[in-house]
Amino acid sequence: MSSLRINISKLSEGHHHYSLSAEASEIGLDERFQKSVAVEADLEKTNRQMLLQAEARAAGEFVCDRCLDQFRMDVTSRHSIVYIQGAEPPDDLAEFEEVQYLPLDSNMIDLGEDVRQFLILSLPLKMLCREDCAGLCPVCGTNRNKSSCSCAMDEGDPRWAALKRFLEN
Ligand SMILES: [Zn+2]
Ligand SMILES: [Zn+2]
Repeated sequence: MSSLRINISKLSEGHHHYSLSAEASEIGLDERFQKSVAVEADLEKTNRQMLLQAEARAAGEFVCDRCLDQFRMDVTSRHSIVYIQGAEPPDDLAEFEEVQYLPLDSNMIDLGEDVRQFLILSLPLKMLCREDCAGLCPVCGTNRNKSSCSCAMDEGDPRWAALKRFLEN
């Protein structure tokens, strides 16, 4: 059980809100992530079914794919899960992202693993310190966000253009 858990043993029907937090390492996030993860969760309970809508906020130090510098980035994820206690799945659940079944006698739900997965999924495929990161000079390796170099870069030369395209991919 992580700190991101909700006690459902005596939960009344209706809406419930939870503000939870956990250590990033506790829920299995790698060392790029900074200390804490905050989760705002809404739980709507009906007879034997609970709809969870959760928003997780974390931050981390990541390495830019283009200039290789470290940069800080906030990471936010949202997910919905329907928890069903001991029942057969109703037909109308297709619209939800995920359905999880709980034993009838369970009194806790643990959001830790789902929050970890959805935070990882919300990381961009291409990590950039900023949208217009100028990257490294392909000749001398200077970080062009920080200084310019004297390498001759004739932008009109098709060989440079091809190299530039390659490096920007
Ligand atoms: Zn960069
Ligand atoms: Zn250079």
